[in-house]
Amino acid sequence: MDKVKEVSLKEFFLLVDKSDTKVCKTCTKELYLSWGNITKEMDQALNVIGAFLNSDCYINKNGYTEFHLEGTNYWSESAPIAIAYYPYHESKIRVCNECSAVFLNYTDYSGHAPQNRVRLVRKNLIVLDDCDFDLNIKG
Ligand SMILES: [Zn+2]
Repeated sequence: MDKVKEVSLKEFFLLVDKSDTKVCKTCTKELYLSWGNITKEMDQALNVIGAFLNSDCYINKNGYTEFHLEGTNYWSESAPIAIAYYPYHESKIRVCNECSAVFLNYTDYSGHAPQNRVRLVRKNLIVLDDCDFDLNIKG
């Protein structure tokens, strides 16, 4: 099995900065401000870039713990994208081949048939609490 490429926080932020905010028919990103099930079309359009560098360490440490601020929950459109916490720490990083929007993607197994879920990354929601995957994000 191929090893998944590990993406540092610095590389991740570069991807997010490059992403286009225009409407895109290919990825329909405006429908994925919170987690939603991926469609076949999206699955084909989103290139897999990799997983977060050292994510195993945070999967072990934080397990299924989620990180929230002021009344958000898993489904909130404003829920923080807390990279060290579930389910972000186990997500793959994917990029739309049309508009370069960045998505996170993981398989949810909680009490139902596995669901392949995807969420658009918006920079203002990214939270680095407990996150020292790669402290040189400014370097
Ligand atoms: Zn797109």
